Amino acid sequence: MFEHYRTKGIFIKKEDRGESDQLFTIYTGGFGKLKVLGKGIRKITSKLRSGAEIFFLSEIEFIQGKNYRTLTDAIVLEKFSDMRDNLKRLAIACRISEVLDNLVRGQEVDQEIWQLLNESFEKLNNLKIDPTLSRIPPSGKNLLNPAESEGKLKIVYYYFFWNLFSILGYQPELFNCVVCQKKLLPKNLYFNPKEGGVLCEKCFAKIKKGLEVEPEVIKILRLILERDWQILARLKVTNSEEKSLNLISSVK
Ligand SMILES: [Zn+2]
Repeated sequence: MFEHYRTKGIFIKKEDRGESDQLFTIYTGGFGKLKVLGKGIRKITSKLRSGAEIFFLSEIEFIQGKNYRTLTDAIVLEKFSDMRDNLKRLAIACRISEVLDNLVRGQEVDQEIWQLLNESFEKLNNLKIDPTLSRIPPSGKNLLNPAESEGKLKIVYYYFFWNLFSILGYQPELFNCVVCQKKLLPKNLYFNPKEGGVLCEKCFAKIKKGLEVEPEVIKILRLILERDWQILARLKVTNSEEKSLNLISSVK
């Protein structure tokens, strides 16, 4: 007989298969990344539907067949409703899931990644935007400056991205020049992912590859890798800093 396995997992991807099946990619605490087939799950009578939905944290049970795994039970533990009901938050959850799916290829248990994913989704779900950061006077209902609140939410993505990179063994060097090893001064800094971090002005003049970044951006990256959420949550990120962060925080 096939064995049953139970674990907690977050649904990071779903694809329709055949007439009524769905293939889920689930990042789990007990097995790492798994692909599990939900048989007949698109039928309204399916008992699995209530617990198997994109971005749910659920307790799942599956059986390991010869060629694929089949979902046999899914009990939702956390729906991350505030994240799933808000398009901007949802878009960031999609980006986090995509990066995770792209960078973590095989099935390998990793408690650090599992915790980082849970932590990032919780932040994305619960992050309140501090109204005192807004330029709009706190008189009306809409206290938030839309651009600022979006920038805040994106910090969660950068938080996930760089800490995932770091767990996978690619923590960037942010304190000394990656080439000459000299301590970096807060001016004329260049980010070069191939070299594995930040270049000083002199080394950049020789290598000529890298993206000029404001010293503030390097400070934000340091806070992200120190996981100093207290400060990060209160940080005001300017548009140009956000642009730089976006450019350097992409897999492509
Ligand atoms: Zn240098």
